Amino acid sequence: MAAVKTTSDTVKQIHYLAGALKAPRITEAAARLADQARDAGWTHEDYLAAVLEREVSARNASGAQLRIRAAGFGSVKTLEDFDFDAQPAIRQQISALASGAFLAQARNLVLLGPPGTGKTHLATALGVKAAHAGHRVLFATATDWVTHLTEAHRQGQLARELARLRRYGLIIVDEVGYLPFEPEAANLFFQLVSSRYEHASLILTSNLPFTGWGGVFGDQAVAAAMIDRIVHHADVITLKGASYRLRGRGIDSLPSSRITTDGTES
Ligand code: ADP
Ligand code: MG
Repeated sequence: MAAVKTTSDTVKQIHYLAGALKAPRITEAAARLADQARDAGWTHEDYLAAVLEREVSARNASGAQLRIRAAGFGSVKTLEDFDFDAQPAIRQQISALASGAFLAQARNLVLLGPPGTGKTHLATALGVKAAHAGHRVLFATATDWVTHLTEAHRQGQLARELARLRRYGLIIVDEVGYLPFEPEAANLFFQLVSSRYEHASLILTSNLPFTGWGGVFGDQAVAAAMIDRIVHHADVITLKGASYRLRGRGIDSLPSSRITTDGTES
């Protein structure tokens, strides 16, 4: 049986049109899928949908890769890499968050717990999910955020920078409380939190329980106002147990993990 051959003029035209659409992958998909379509007897609509689907999924994937690279994660981690047997109590809460609904509602997430329990891993993994879902994401430590905002403030650009950051669907602030803030830094951090309040999401991680945040921000009233805004629309997840890094090494806890997140000595 003589296969219906596409004329080389039509192939050239597809090539030209795909270029004009800035969708060069269509040229390749169109040719490959045309053979498949003829063999399998697809309708014209099936064929068109298959070609467009390849282009859209390739665009989404490369967009996600760009957003993941631009986010500044220390190292890229995924939820699939996370061993929930080490944190069984949070499995359901994390899988609900993985749907990304919290981002659409501009809700926050606070991950508390001793060192090595997976706070940074989970914050990063949810950031990666968000990037796949089309959100722009930025990740940095609390100290780096303060340095960044201090610089913007010094240049008289703070308001503009906060407005620019609001265009990111998710900002991750890792290691709140690792270093205490100067009053000026605490104030800048407060402005970041306020500027995102009910507009866009934050994920914060901390080794300290909220009761320890007064010491970080140098002032109980500032800390209370900040915590109020952060947790008004938020999930707070407390990770428990020994450091995942030290599993199976015969070391049960680090000296710094003696203070547990509910403020008691372990
Ligand atoms: P934290 O931020 O709470 O100090 P991390 O998220 O940095 O801890 O975790 C420390 C290391 O252990 C990372 O390499 C992380 O990927 C890994 N890790 C921690 N918890 C888990 C887990 N439940 N499953 C897989 N890897 C984990
Ligand atoms: Mg961490």
